[in-house]
Amino acid sequence: MSTWRREILLLFFVTLYCALTVTCISQTVHKVKENADPSISDASRNNSKAVMLAKDLKRKGIRDEHVLAAMAKIPREQFVDKSMAEYAYLDRPLPIEEGQTISQPYTVAFQTELLQLKPGEKVLEIGTGSGYQAAVLCEMGVEVYSIERYQALYLTAIETLNKLGYFPHLCYGDGYEGLPQHAPFDKILITAAPEEIPEKLKEQLRIGGWMVLPLGGRQGQKMTVLKRTGEEKYRQTTHGDFIFVPMQKGTEK
Ligand code: SAH
Repeated sequence: MSTWRREILLLFFVTLYCALTVTCISQTVHKVKENADPSISDASRNNSKAVMLAKDLKRKGIRDEHVLAAMAKIPREQFVDKSMAEYAYLDRPLPIEEGQTISQPYTVAFQTELLQLKPGEKVLEIGTGSGYQAAVLCEMGVEVYSIERYQALYLTAIETLNKLGYFPHLCYGDGYEGLPQHAPFDKILITAAPEEIPEKLKEQLRIGGWMVLPLGGRQGQKMTVLKRTGEEKYRQTTHGDFIFVPMQKGTEK
């Protein structure tokens, strides 16, 4: 091979090497840029806050590791107004639209623990509210149906949940009616307080399944578990005092 041919070949390989190096560097820079995105670093900061919240709940007596793991993953600040975001990881209920509340994390964990969920079970929630509890149920690997009586809350919850990659079956309607077309449910969770156990929801429980609900009037409620043990047979136990917003009849636009 003549010298000039060797030089051209050398030049070709040097250029190829430089081009490849530049491509790799630009990819690295692209990755750094992605990580530097303020919304992404906010999300990971909040994720560590959710982990801290789960630890707090464990200290307060929540034992079910699946419940704790689910709650450690969910960005609770996404379910409240921006002005409330700084309080999202405190163990407190917070106001949402229409004068309603997103339940205190301890209460969410306590009710979810009482459900003793197994992946694949069909679960009906009454009172979608912000959608946070529905997200916890989705993280537990169950098939979630949830009903909300305020149209505005229902619409906001769809948007929030879908944005975060959760796709439960959400319905706008009166929870007292349940969803007979999708019954029976393995578990039913009520997140607003009825004064009496809704008859139609009892009928929509699978035999062997159960319902978790805060039962009582405005002065306070008893956390109640109602097990359906036979066609007409139910067994009721109580699990401490709580305060929820009332379960109201009908729907609101
Ligand atoms: N699970 C909710 C907590 C919401 S508070 C969350 O994670 O954010 C209780 C909710 O129950 C309120 O949004 C209220 O509007 C709703 N609610 C009250 N009565 C209802 C009914 N009959 N049917 C459906 N939803 C009802």
